[in-house]
Amino acid sequence: MEEHAHPAARFTLQVSLEDGRQPALPYNTEEPPAAPCEPAVPGQAACTMSLEKAGGRFCSGKRASLPAQRPFPVIQKVVASMAHLQEEKLRLQEELLALQEKLAARESEEMAISVQLRGQVENLKANLREQAQEIGRLRSEMGGTDAEKHRDLLVAENERLRQEMKAREGELRELRRQQAACRDCTHLQENAGLQERLCQLQREAEEARAKLAELELEVQQKTNRLAEVELRLKDSLAERAQEEERLSRRLRDSQETIASLRAQPQQIKYIIKTVEVESAKAKQALCESQSRNQYLQEQVGMQRQVLKEMEQQLQSSQKTAAQLRAQIAMYESELERAHGQMLEEMQAMEDEKNRAIEEAFSRAQVEMKAVHENLAGVRTNLLTLQPALRTLTHDYNSLKRQVRDFPLLLQETLRSARAEIGQAIEEVNSTNRELLRKYRRELQLRKKCHNELVRLKGNIRVFGRVRPITKEDGEGPEAVSAVTFDADDDAVLHLLHKGKQVSFELDKVFPPQASQEEVFQEVQALVTSCIDGYNVCIFAYGQTGAGKTYTMEGTSTNPGINQRALQLLFSEVRSKAADWDYAISVSVAEIYNEALRDLLGKEPQEKLEIKLCPDGSGQLYVPGLTEFSVQSVEDINKVFEFGHVNRVTECTNLNEHSSRSHALLIVTVRGLDRSTGLRTTGKLNLVDLAGSERVGRSGAEGSRLREAQYINRSLSALGDVIYALRSRQGHVPFRNSKLTYLLQDSLSGDSKTLMMVQVSPAEKNSSETLCSLKFAERVRSVELGPVSRKAELVSWPSQEHLEGDVPGSSSRSHASPSPGLPSGRSTSIRRKLQTSGKLRPVPV
Ligand code: ADP
Ligand code: MG
Repeated sequence: MEEHAHPAARFTLQVSLEDGRQPALPYNTEEPPAAPCEPAVPGQAACTMSLEKAGGRFCSGKRASLPAQRPFPVIQKVVASMAHLQEEKLRLQEELLALQEKLAARESEEMAISVQLRGQVENLKANLREQAQEIGRLRSEMGGTDAEKHRDLLVAENERLRQEMKAREGELRELRRQQAACRDCTHLQENAGLQERLCQLQREAEEARAKLAELELEVQQKTNRLAEVELRLKDSLAERAQEEERLSRRLRDSQETIASLRAQPQQIKYIIKTVEVESAKAKQALCESQSRNQYLQEQVGMQRQVLKEMEQQLQSSQKTAAQLRAQIAMYESELERAHGQMLEEMQAMEDEKNRAIEEAFSRAQVEMKAVHENLAGVRTNLLTLQPALRTLTHDYNSLKRQVRDFPLLLQETLRSARAEIGQAIEEVNSTNRELLRKYRRELQLRKKCHNELVRLKGNIRVFGRVRPITKEDGEGPEAVSAVTFDADDDAVLHLLHKGKQVSFELDKVFPPQASQEEVFQEVQALVTSCIDGYNVCIFAYGQTGAGKTYTMEGTSTNPGINQRALQLLFSEVRSKAADWDYAISVSVAEIYNEALRDLLGKEPQEKLEIKLCPDGSGQLYVPGLTEFSVQSVEDINKVFEFGHVNRVTECTNLNEHSSRSHALLIVTVRGLDRSTGLRTTGKLNLVDLAGSERVGRSGAEGSRLREAQYINRSLSALGDVIYALRSRQGHVPFRNSKLTYLLQDSLSGDSKTLMMVQVSPAEKNSSETLCSLKFAERVRSVELGPVSRKAELVSWPSQEHLEGDVPGSSSRSHASPSPGLPSGRSTSIRRKLQTSGKLRPVPV
C-alpha cells in the first residue's frame, strides 16, 4: 500500500520553523523590547523580527518618515523607542507574514493531506467493496448453501447406494435360496443374467465412485481457494493494521506538536489558536476520517466473523465428506464381500451345471442307445407289418366290394326283418289276448278275494267320533269333558257317567282334535269300493248337536265326508278313464216322519214310494226320485245348494227340522270297462240321521212326541237290520222303516256299512253319550260266523229306552221276516253284470 502522510501529522511537522529559529516571538508591545529572545534550540539564531514584517496592525508608517534629529533627550528616547517599536513591529509583521505563509503552506499541505487522505479513504472503500465482492463471490462459489447442497447431494447419493446395496443383497439371498432349492440347469441363464446385472451394478458403483472423487476434487479446489482468500484477507488486514498504526502514530505526533505549540508563549498561543481555529475544518475532516476508520475497522471485524463462520462450515463439510468417504469405503468392502460370495456361489453353480450336463449327456447317450435299439425293433416290425398291410389292403378292397353290394343285401335283410316283425307282432297280439283273458280272470278272482276279505273283516264297521267342547256346552265345570281316550288303543274310549267310568271298544275312535281329513282318510277305501260296483252306506248317528252334520256335510271351508267322497270319486274315475267309462249321478232325499221326499224334485213336499222293479229282478226303486248326473265338483255343489234350498223352504226351523229327519245323499256310480264290456253299478249312501236323543222321557207331546216316536222307530229298525246283517240271520227286517227299506240294496249282501257314532264330550250329555255308545257297541259286538246263528234268537235292544209305541207299528225292533223280500244273500248277486237302461234315465 502506498504510504500517505497523515494530514494532522504533516500539520504538526509544518509548525516547526524552517529557518531554524524559535518560532514564537513576544507579541506584547508593552514589554520591554530589550529582553532578548532565548534560542529554543542551542545553536539557533535569536529571533529578530522587524515590525515591518510583523503585520499591518501596528505598521502605520514607513521607516523613511522617521526624523533622525534628537532635539530633546526624552523625545529622542521616545523617538528611539518608537523607532525600536517600529522595528519591532516590522519584525513582528515579518514574522506574522512568515507565519501566515507557513499557515498557508500548512493549509495547502493540510488540503493536500486531506485530499490524499480522502483518496486513501476512497481507495480503502474500493478495497473494501472489492473484498466484499470477493467474499460474496466466494460465498456464492462455495458458500454455506453450496456446501450444504453438495452435502445433501452426497447424502442422497449415499442413500441411493445403500438402497441399491440392500436390493443387491436381497437378490443375492434370493439367488442363494433358489440355488439351494433347485440345482437345475435352467437357472444358469438366470445366473448369467444376474451376473451381468452385478457387473452393471459394479460399473455403476465405479461411476458413482469416480463422481465422488470428482466432487472431492472440487471440494479440495474450493477449499484451496478459500484458503487463498483467507490469506489475502489476512494480508489486507495486516496492512490495514499497519496503516492504522502509522496513522495513529502520526496523530500522536501531531497531537504532541500541538501540545508543544500550546506550551509556547501567548503569541504563539494566539497563533496556535488562530491556527486551531483555522484548522477546524481540517480537524473535522480528521474526525470524519477517524470515524470512517472506525467504521472500516468494524467492517473488517464483521468480515472476520463471516470468515470464521465460513471456516466452520468448511470444517463441517469436510467432516461430512470424510464420513461419507468412510461409508463408501464400508459399502465397497461389503460389495466386495458380496461379490466374493457371489463368485463362490457362481462357481458352485457352474460346477453343478457341469455335473448336470455330464449326467444329461450320459443319460442322453443311454437313451440314444435305447432309441437306436427301438429303431432297430421298429424296423424289424415294419418288415413284419408289411405283409399285414398287404392283407389289410386286401381286406379293404373286399370291404369295398361288400359296400357296393350292401344296398341289395340291405333290401333283402329288410324284407326278412319285416316278415319277422310281422310274425312277432302276431305273436304279441296273441299273447296280449291271452293276457287279457288272464287279467279278466284275475280281476274276478281279486273281487272274490276282496269279498272274502270284507266278509272276514266284517262289512259293517262302527266308528266313534267325539266332537270338541263348544260354547254351547257352557263354561266352567260343565264344560269338562266326560270322555277320555286310551293313548295306546285308538279303538277305546272311556266315559265318566254318574261318577263311574264306562269303557267302550269300537272299530276306531276319533278324538276331538281329529280333522275332517283324518276322518275321511279312514272312510275313503269304502268310497272307492263304490267305483268297483259295491254298495256303501255311511251313517252318522248320535244325539242332536253331537256333530253328525259336521261330519257328513262339514262347513264350506272344511267340508265333510259328502263333498270329499264325491271329489275322490271324480279323481278316481279320471284316473281310470283310460279303460273305463263312468257316469256319476246323485239324488238327495229326506225321511221325515216316515215320509220319503225328493229334495231335488220339483215338488219336494210330495211323498215318494219305494217299489219293486217291475222287471222281476227283485231290485227296488223310487219312482219320481230325481237323479242328477254330475261331471264335476262344481255340479255337486250346485246340487247340494239346490237340495239345501228345497229343505229350507219346506220347514220353518231348519235346525230343528234337520235334527228330526234323516238326510240322504245317494251317489250312483255306473261303470263300463271298454275292453271287456263289463258293467258295474255302485251306490254310495251318505246318511245324516235324525237326533237319537230320548225326547219321550222329557215329556214331549203332540207333534214333537210323534216325531220322536218315528225317529225312535226308524233308528231301532236300522239297529235291527244291522244286527240281523252282522249276525247273518236268515231274515233281515228291512221293511220296518222307510230308511232301511230304501237302503235295503245297500245294506245287504256284500255291501259295506259304516256307522259313525257321534258323541258329545260334555258332562251334561253323558247319559245321551252313554246311550249312543251302547248302541254303537251293540251294533259292533255282533259276532260273525257260526255264532251269528245263535244271535238270531236275540232281540235287538236298541232304542229300548224310548217310551211309547211308534204309530202304526206293533213290533218294536225284532221284525218278522217279510215274505217275498230278497234276503241278504239273495241280493248279494245284485252287483253282477247289469245291462244299461234298468234304471230310470237321469233327468239332467
Ligand atoms: P248334529 O248334526 O249332530 O246336530 P252338528 O254337526 O250340527 O251336530 O254339530 C253341532 C255343533 O258342534 C256345530 O256347531 C258344529 O260345528 C260343532 N261340531 C261338531 N263336531 C265338530 C268337530 N269335530 N269339530 C268342531 N266342531 C264340531
Ligand atoms: Mg244335524
